[in-house]
Amino acid sequence: MQIVIASKNNGKIREIKSFFSNLRKVQWLTFEDFERFPDIKEEGKSFAENAGLKARGISLYTNKIALGDDSGLEVDFLGGRPGIKSSRYTGVNAADKENRDKLLEEMKNAGDISERSARFICSMVLWDPVKGFIFGAKGICEGFIGFKEIGTGGFGYDCIFNPTGYNKTMAQLTQVEKNMISHRGKALKAVYGFIVNL
Ligand code: IMP
Repeated sequence: MQIVIASKNNGKIREIKSFFSNLRKVQWLTFEDFERFPDIKEEGKSFAENAGLKARGISLYTNKIALGDDSGLEVDFLGGRPGIKSSRYTGVNAADKENRDKLLEEMKNAGDISERSARFICSMVLWDPVKGFIFGAKGICEGFIGFKEIGTGGFGYDCIFNPTGYNKTMAQLTQVEKNMISHRGKALKAVYGFIVNL
């Protein structure tokens, strides 16, 4: 069975493939398996809506089941920003580092950890080219924003995000550890349960 990952984000692709490494029945396809792979506009108002748009767009384009992931970071001190705009916080095609620098700058008046609460959110949708929407899931990982970058693993905001209960940033965890506690790992657990019964 083939499923296309509806993303060009190599961090997400790595995590999804790692999570499913023991499930032989699925062959994961990525943008690299196709000559052309459209960029789906994230015009939705929620993570779930955008995950659906991505899954639908890529499923209809490739004529295969597609998995859409829309995710991001909600920071309480910033009223929930960057939220669904996490990847383009400093503009379209923003580099992860630029986004992190902007976020840390905006947090400079939040001197106490209690003011720095945040959460990663991930919505996932599976879309079938014939049946349409077939499954949706959401995962949340609570934590707080650190004061500087620590760690080299992961991607995006990982090196400034400290998951609750860990004395480390997300970027200091191994891939397997991150998948066990992350927003994406939680959503993928539900997706896994659906896929094994397909
Ligand atoms: P999008 O889902 O493609 O709109 O982008 C998600 C953005 O949220 C990424 O570019 C990262 O900036 C951020 N993000 C989502 N998941 C993670 C994660 O697991 N670690 C760090 N940053 C993440």
